[in-house]
Amino acid sequence: MVRKSISATDQTRLRIEKMEADREERRRRQEAMRIERAAEEKRNVAQVNPGDVDFIGLVRQWREEHSGLARSHTEGSGGLSEDKICVCVRKRPLNEKERKKRDHDAVTCLHPTATVHSAKLRVDGISKYLDHHSFRFDHAFDEETTTEEVYRCTAKPLVDWVCGGRGARATVFAYGQTGSGKTYTMGRIQQMVAADNALSAHPIFTCADDIFETLSDNTLFGDEGCSLENATCSIAIFEIYGGRIQDLLNNRNRLKVLEDGKGEVIISGLEEFEATNPKQFLAMIEKGHTNRTTHATEANDVSSRSHAICQILFRDKNNGKLKGKLSLVDLAGSERGNDTKSHNRQRRTESAEINTSLLALKECIRAIDGKSQHVPYRQSKLTLILKDCFVSRNAKTAMIATLSPGSSSSDHTLNTLRYADRIKENVVGDDFGK
Ligand code: ADP
Ligand code: MG
Repeated sequence: MVRKSISATDQTRLRIEKMEADREERRRRQEAMRIERAAEEKRNVAQVNPGDVDFIGLVRQWREEHSGLARSHTEGSGGLSEDKICVCVRKRPLNEKERKKRDHDAVTCLHPTATVHSAKLRVDGISKYLDHHSFRFDHAFDEETTTEEVYRCTAKPLVDWVCGGRGARATVFAYGQTGSGKTYTMGRIQQMVAADNALSAHPIFTCADDIFETLSDNTLFGDEGCSLENATCSIAIFEIYGGRIQDLLNNRNRLKVLEDGKGEVIISGLEEFEATNPKQFLAMIEKGHTNRTTHATEANDVSSRSHAICQILFRDKNNGKLKGKLSLVDLAGSERGNDTKSHNRQRRTESAEINTSLLALKECIRAIDGKSQHVPYRQSKLTLILKDCFVSRNAKTAMIATLSPGSSSSDHTLNTLRYADRIKENVVGDDFGK
């Protein structure tokens, strides 16, 4: 009797064990299939990568069929006149390095749509086709668009808005994979010391001129607006790297960010330098950039893992009260958020932090437009510092997502487009909205 009862228990136990073993085996098989599929996908991509003329032909054909759809940037709506958020993309031209690797151009910007053409092979391993992923934005700037044009549609309306005073806040972000053109677009010094025409096209350069031009013309906004008579213009530049905040205009001094009892965020120790003309302004931008890049070379490309923030502040000459603030933000490389598997522990922590800050940023920007109720600005130093740019009713934002054209960057480019798209959600679908 006793023996029977033991054997019944054993049987149950054995059945459970078998079920678990089966489940384990199923999991193992599924995982093996997943790895196999991923490897297969990779093999296909590897096969199609360098300079495949068929794919180049397919992209060309798609462009010929769709070229008529491009609109001019002055047409239609989109932009900051009515909206609080402007989301746009900018594709840079294919560069020498990519050409050498025989990478082909797999991105098409036909304003207001950006399309990634992903090269695919059917399972037979012979038939080639393209998957087209299209997204619509407020602006899609192609590789031929000048930085002046990008500036005119994105930062310029914000400069005017901030110079209007009334405590206005405006932020311009450059978001994208490392090497996609964030620093180029946000206007760092490399371009200033480069060719003259690049210099004159520099957004911050133009921005500085514009600010002083707008300020001298104090009839524009009446008493409330900022003018050279009633307001000072100062600049602060700092960097957030691995959770540390450092002043780029003041010997990389460590800064602390605090939220006071009234909910106001203070960056303690941050120096603001007053500028009274564009020349001084540019000298400071140059200094900030030099400090960032020197450090970057020493510590192995820190710039792709740090957010650089340049703030232009207008204060009332009498009481120092903030009348307006424009923040120009060159974000850390978006691919950094994903590389949590690689490198050493420090790199992984940095990547996780970048990931958190970029995800929080997306939600915070969505909140400006009322698309999200939740403003998770405390989740990262970046969003905490920019709190007033998200919660203030007087806040406007432009996001410039920069795109590398090469087919080998397609996955990152798609991630960038999806991120930008989530901010305003104007998806067209995979068939160009047909
Ligand atoms: P990121 O800051 O995103 O890492 P960079 O701004 O440093 O990328 O750009 C990478 C390279 O591509 C630089 O050599 C830059 O001069 C070049 N580049 C970027 N955008 C453009 C553009 N729109 N036109 C021409 N060259 C560009
Ligand atoms: Mg950069």
